[in-house]
Amino acid sequence: MTANANIATGLAKLGMVLRSEAWRRAEATGLSPTQAQILVQLVQRGPARVGAVADAIAVTQPTASDATAALVRKGYVKRRPDPEDARAAQLHVTRTGRRLAQDLAVWPDALLGAIAALDPLEEAAFAKGLVKMIRALQERGAIPVQRMCVSCRHFRPNAHSDAARPHHCAFVDAAFGDAALRLDCGEHVAADASLQLESWTRFKEAAA
Ligand code: SF4
Repeated sequence: MTANANIATGLAKLGMVLRSEAWRRAEATGLSPTQAQILVQLVQRGPARVGAVADAIAVTQPTASDATAALVRKGYVKRRPDPEDARAAQLHVTRTGRRLAQDLAVWPDALLGAIAALDPLEEAAFAKGLVKMIRALQERGAIPVQRMCVSCRHFRPNAHSDAARPHHCAFVDAAFGDAALRLDCGEHVAADASLQLESWTRFKEAAA
């Protein structure tokens, strides 16, 4: 087996843990995995139209529409007019929905335990590898655009000589290491294309 196939097999096994946990929670909460994903997405990113939710979780609009209709029926989500276009509706999470989303957003203990088995160097290397893979998938259009450090206006890659914490986040004005590279940050502000390329080049050069 090639190294690539080996890594793909490993990732598939990790995906299996996440899928089985999603189904276990679906059974426990009465939500389908897609409904659970939409609820968590709305809590983490705020009110949105169905189309934007569908893009964010990479499902078709009809699938997102069916799932949100079920969430509305169950009282976890409400439709309200979009302030930017009163003819369109935005999805808002109700108080009950917010409580449920808190439980759903917790990562499975088994997965957290497995990550804890990595030493700090392995953790940093793994995080950096994930950033590279996710960016590559994004570039191929295989997954939606993510709110990652490497595409953020606040990111200053390899700005410090400290090998353990070489990067800088201008938003919190603090240095951080590879293990803390964010893949979905609430404070992310998309950099323009030339800044993203410049950041990526600096990030990659030091990684080489
Ligand atoms: S604001 Fe968030 S995404 Fe942007 S550099 Fe800081 S930690 Fe990374």
